[in-house]
Amino acid sequence: MAENPQPARYRPRTDILALGDPFFDPVEAAAFPDATLRYRNDRAAAQIGITPSRHPGPVPGSTGPRTMASEIEAAPSAEPWTAEQVRGDDGVLALTDAEWITHFARFAALPGSLPQPLALRYHGHQFQHYNPDIGDGRGFLFAQLEDGAGRLMDLGTKGSGQTPYSRFGDGRLTLKGGVREILATEMLEALSVTTSRTLSLIDTHEQLVRGDEPSPTRSAVMVRLNHSHVRIGTFQRLAYERDGEAMARLVDYVLSRLYHRTPGAEPAVELFDEAVGRIATLAAQFMAAGFVHGVLNTDNINLTGESFDYGPWRFAPSWDTGFTAAYFDHQGLYAYGRQGDAMHWNAMQLAVALRTIVPAEPLIAILETFPARFARAAADALLWRLGVSPRGEAEDGALHDAVVRALAASRMPLDRFYHEAFGGWLPEGDDWAAFEEVRALLSDYRPRKDRSHPYWSDAAPCSMLIDEVEAIWAAIAERDDWGPLDAKVAAIRRMGDALR
Ligand code: AMP
Ligand code: MG
Repeated sequence: MAENPQPARYRPRTDILALGDPFFDPVEAAAFPDATLRYRNDRAAAQIGITPSRHPGPVPGSTGPRTMASEIEAAPSAEPWTAEQVRGDDGVLALTDAEWITHFARFAALPGSLPQPLALRYHGHQFQHYNPDIGDGRGFLFAQLEDGAGRLMDLGTKGSGQTPYSRFGDGRLTLKGGVREILATEMLEALSVTTSRTLSLIDTHEQLVRGDEPSPTRSAVMVRLNHSHVRIGTFQRLAYERDGEAMARLVDYVLSRLYHRTPGAEPAVELFDEAVGRIATLAAQFMAAGFVHGVLNTDNINLTGESFDYGPWRFAPSWDTGFTAAYFDHQGLYAYGRQGDAMHWNAMQLAVALRTIVPAEPLIAILETFPARFARAAADALLWRLGVSPRGEAEDGALHDAVVRALAASRMPLDRFYHEAFGGWLPEGDDWAAFEEVRALLSDYRPRKDRSHPYWSDAAPCSMLIDEVEAIWAAIAERDDWGPLDAKVAAIRRMGDALR
């Protein structure tokens, strides 16, 4: 496995507070007296200045050792620690596993960041039906930090307890749901899909009842790392409330703090243009990854173009456009091959919301660019996964379409195709009869990377089909055996190294 990168400096931020009260409700986390760390993503943590510590550190403002008890006492005080109090000479926040649990299961504030968790307000279209009763119902924004690249990062939670938006729900996450989110995010990151990352999963030893898992089932609390949690549904709520003033503030927040753009004469139009490009790109990346998100509701679509909130996701075994992930998606609204259309529809809803503060014409013109941007991004994503360098829009589009035709006609397993074809080389043989056109087109392409990484000599590709997901979960459920999960994460990261 690749070494963790050189850690960034720990730089807490509180930008969300500038948006003001109408965007969130301060909340408290549920009490989790019994907590066991199951997954700690030190690779992602390093990028926000958090590193493992093997020794208890000093308590800020005292000379004694930093124990769990002293940290719990210190954390909720009116004066949160400043970053300077906590980080050592190397500027990082070093956490033992016990301290990690204090912050990521008990939600003691991170020094210098938000003093209290904030449940974010949003609405959304769920399977195209508008729902004004949602919002952060089992999660909250816990902290904001800056990453090594100077980007604002949110630490959001899942399963951290009830909020004003929990409705009938218990505010909890099942352990299986958390394990599935780890697998989805690790795999998507390796496949270069723009995704949230799972930072932490902690077993909370409660018994939950769910309709879609054998119950009682185990519980967990998760922390995810995302550039933001501003959703299309965040804009929709402001349109519903007819709060143009707050929407203008949100536009400014997204443009300046997330897109790093200086707002010009028409900020909402500039925002929409950038958002459409990102959303189209994400949909295209799903196609090349063979990924079916399952719940592409507008409350799950991030303005940053990061995929997040993984529920009933699946990877498609083959190029089957009707392949559906969610058992409750009876119409196949979010089936594999419909994800481009679903995201186009979602972008339209963002335009509808922005109509609160801008006229329709420029928004319509931008929305019409969606199909072309999706097609371009789909070709780029496919070429990247094939390990060849782009040649030009027309050539790349033709290659993309030929690959899709061959994959759909042959039902070649997607993982096998990408594994064998990496670098632009196709095997001979009957299995590949449908790929003659692809072979001819590929002969003009140059590899962007060779096949020297040992992964390319493996007998079988690293895949993530549902049977394997279930087997990894079964080992945990039946024997509390976390070995298969750890081994899979290592295998995925190795594949990611081979692809990058
Ligand atoms: P999702 O389908 O996970 O995006 O969730 C849709 C909405 O339902 C969001 O407002 C969630 O916060 C809420 N929700 C989902 N599960 C629960 C739960 N167990 N308890 C409370 N709220 C939940
Ligand atoms: Mg959601």
